[in-house]
Amino acid sequence: MVTIRSPHALRGGVHPEYNKTLTASEPIRELPLPARLTVPMSQHLGAPAKPVVKVGDTVTGGQLIAEAGGFISAPIHAPAAGKVVALEETLTAAGRACAAIVIETAAEQTWQPMPTFPEWRFTNAKQLVEHIGAAGIVGMGGAGFPTRVKLAPPSDKPIDTVILNGAECEPYLTADHRLMVEHAAEIRIGAEIIRHILGARSLRVAIEDNKPEAIAAIETAFRDTAGDVAVVVLPTSYPQGAEKQQIYSVTGREVPRGGLPMDVGCVVENVSTAFAVFDAVVNGMPLVRRVITVSGDAIAQPSNLLAPCGTLYSDLVEACGGITGRAAKVLSGGTMMGFAVGSLAIPTGKTASGLLLLSPKKITAFTSQACISCGRCVDACPMRLCPAELSQCIEADDIESAERVALMDCIECGACAFVCPARRPLVQHMRRGKAAVMANRAAQKAP
Ligand code: SF4
Ligand code: SF4
Repeated sequence: MVTIRSPHALRGGVHPEYNKTLTASEPIRELPLPARLTVPMSQHLGAPAKPVVKVGDTVTGGQLIAEAGGFISAPIHAPAAGKVVALEETLTAAGRACAAIVIETAAEQTWQPMPTFPEWRFTNAKQLVEHIGAAGIVGMGGAGFPTRVKLAPPSDKPIDTVILNGAECEPYLTADHRLMVEHAAEIRIGAEIIRHILGARSLRVAIEDNKPEAIAAIETAFRDTAGDVAVVVLPTSYPQGAEKQQIYSVTGREVPRGGLPMDVGCVVENVSTAFAVFDAVVNGMPLVRRVITVSGDAIAQPSNLLAPCGTLYSDLVEACGGITGRAAKVLSGGTMMGFAVGSLAIPTGKTASGLLLLSPKKITAFTSQACISCGRCVDACPMRLCPAELSQCIEADDIESAERVALMDCIECGACAFVCPARRPLVQHMRRGKAAVMANRAAQKAP
């Protein structure tokens, strides 16, 4: 195992205020089990899961409560034992309505374990992938793509490099950082399982240089890992954690436009996902909980909490001592890619990495103005797009032209909006444009 500096500089990118010191030294604390969990059926990319329980059913912790709704989907398990008291609609962090199973948690907790594979080195890849799929594991870095699908690439796309993403470049968030500091040994086993499944020769762990404690913990844990293994230290820059950017920073390979990491022989998994893989394979634990950073200057006790999926934001806030003063903005996620939410009655899910409560001091009111063609957004865009041109096409409802100039390559990182002196809502335009493209494609496919 070696430690190297990233040999390839990120193209574009920005340097926001990181504000990670609020929670970087806060050890992971287990949230006391809430009295009620509202478990959303959309905690992943793709089709929502389909409930297999009904109101009045008693469930044990770890029991399957919803099956995958399609190929790109994931099953959902009860995060705790209790009684199903409602099947109702809830809001996801992104503001979309989705179905949810509401569980009143029991005083006496019982647990239904999944099979384990202590001899995973001698277990075939297909069996492990099926197990990881059955455990409901999805990418925990934000996208929520089902891990089962990522770990079974087509035979004409051999994978030679597994990259563990420990960049956590979003401001304020330190959940991955704490997981690396406190559970590096488990992350290592998860990474080795992933490498074993894919038959990959090389393993890289990518971490930004603003996390020396995590780098040291990962170096210690991976020291005796066999084969071509390296910790790659990335210069701190946003969005170093984006998949395609990270592949370039670590390997120098460029994922082609419209392509996938497997087109260049890579699979990128978040460190939290590697931990979840370890937990499922070694401990028989489905993905029912995760670490979430609760931070900002309007929360009494900024923390890293291990919380069951389905915990309401209001329960997280209460466990962190409540709101101090006035929270002028509540964000689900970090300040760059997070979503502003209007309620604390929103449940966490498998991809929820942060909840930020910000005081009026941290919020700047502004009015969007016309583009002054300064070109700063072009310099900042890590995908080499022209956000000014794209946003103008979308504003004019000329979605076809936007698609021609690679709208769908936008990763919604927000770097363009961050630097725009005219304060144009560039990311909102991109999201609206991409949604229109998807709707057009769906309409063309419809019989
Ligand atoms: S949000 Fe899209 S257009 Fe803007 S910088 Fe990021 S990738 Fe480029
Ligand atoms: S940064 Fe803003 S003002 Fe400058 S070119 Fe881009 S969209 Fe226009």
